[in-house]
Amino acid sequence: MRKILIVGAGQSGLQLALGLQSKGYEVTLMSNRTSDEIRSGKVMSTQCMFHTALQHERDLQLNFWESQAPRIEGLGVSVAAPDGARAVDWVGKLDGYAQSVDQRVKMAGWMDTFAQRGGQLVIHGAAVSDLDFFSRTYDLVLVSAGKGELVQLFGRDASRSPFDAPQRALAVAYVHGLGPRPEHPDFDAVRCNLVPGVGELFVMPTLTVSGRADILFWEGVPGGPVDAFKGIKDPADHLSLTLELMEKFLPWEYARATKVELTDANGTLSGRYAPTVRNPIGRLPGGGAVLGVADVVVANDPITGQGSNSASKCAASYLDSIVSHGDAAFDEAWMQRTFDRYWDTAQHVTKWTNAMLGVPPEHVLNLIGAAGQLQPVADRFANGFNDPADFENFFFDPEKTNAYLASVAP
Ligand SMILES: Cc1cc2nc3c(=O)[nH]c(=O)nc-3n(C[C@H](O)[C@H](O)[C@H](O)COP(=O)(O)OP(=O)(O)OC[C@H]3O[C@@H](n4cnc5c(N)ncnc54)[C@H](O)[C@@H]3O)c2cc1C
Repeated sequence: MRKILIVGAGQSGLQLALGLQSKGYEVTLMSNRTSDEIRSGKVMSTQCMFHTALQHERDLQLNFWESQAPRIEGLGVSVAAPDGARAVDWVGKLDGYAQSVDQRVKMAGWMDTFAQRGGQLVIHGAAVSDLDFFSRTYDLVLVSAGKGELVQLFGRDASRSPFDAPQRALAVAYVHGLGPRPEHPDFDAVRCNLVPGVGELFVMPTLTVSGRADILFWEGVPGGPVDAFKGIKDPADHLSLTLELMEKFLPWEYARATKVELTDANGTLSGRYAPTVRNPIGRLPGGGAVLGVADVVVANDPITGQGSNSASKCAASYLDSIVSHGDAAFDEAWMQRTFDRYWDTAQHVTKWTNAMLGVPPEHVLNLIGAAGQLQPVADRFANGFNDPADFENFFFDPEKTNAYLASVAP
């Protein structure tokens, strides 16, 4: 049976490892942390995943937390006016629900499952020299180590990476005690609050180590007032600053957050990274080649909440490319084809996400404004988070936007 090494036990690495394992491959998974360390460690993401990505997990029967995690049935957008009022406010309904399962819960659970099913789990932070050795002893080595140091093996693709610096400063707080949204309290939704020139606050329900919770996630324009979390070590200070900024810029979100407390001492996260697309093949000093997976090769800013979705889609696409390749050699031509097939989907995510990081042009402002009056526009925008390729049809080109708006106008 074919021997495959997967380095990195996140969304893509574990989904792929469990998928290959279920198809009879001899899989070794290398992780720099044990499942207990992940479970009791810091939060890593907000990991809201939409229908298509969740379906890939269901297809592999890995949806262990589906019945416990809140069902996110809508996605709302609010835009703050300079006086603190809500200039725009709407909610689009998702065709299929989204869910967020704290990666501490999911990755630890999946890793235990992989080992219980007989998978070879190695706890070791892989270095390039390890990969050099393993590329000779395995049929295929996949690097799914996220944005960690191993990305140095994969050259940056400047033609697909318009930014060489972080575009947002990220600050996440997991809380209990958030009040319901006063409008539509009957269903859960992600709230995207845009503060022009300042940043965005995303609020969404999740399933965490202590049950149902909500996430308050600030994305601050670098150098602006929300880019203020660097150096804050105490989680209580992190939460206080989160709330202070909400009170100042988004009073309607602050109004339901006055009684919140952190889920746990590891429930905060801050940092930043530059969105980067890389060459998919990593060449090792000894002559071997490894294939990059998910964030290693395509890391987008989380402003559109796509990274875990893309990791799931990448794992599903690679799984199919591996299985359908049968017993043939996993050479560099196959690696490039495998990535290109994933890029067919991923390119739309990158294009849309990079567009959302910039100042919106007039036709996009019109579109977002129109969604407040026209429910079909709100619904289509919301469902674009599940299938970002659809934005090609009505988002980027002013003529297409205008034609679309005219077609739905009463
Ligand atoms: C603040 C924030 C909010 C986000 N919100 C969302 C969201 O709402 N929706 C969404 O879809 N995406 C979101 N994302 C993005 C998403 O979390 C990532 O894109 C996704 O987890 C990437 O999956 P991955 O498998 O590529 O890598 P990861 O999940 O990063 O997993 C990589 C793993 O490899 C391990 N590793 C690293 N180096 C080594 C090594 N040398 N040896 C062994 N193991 C190693 C790491 O410890 C880690 O466990 C968010 C990200 C951030 C930072």
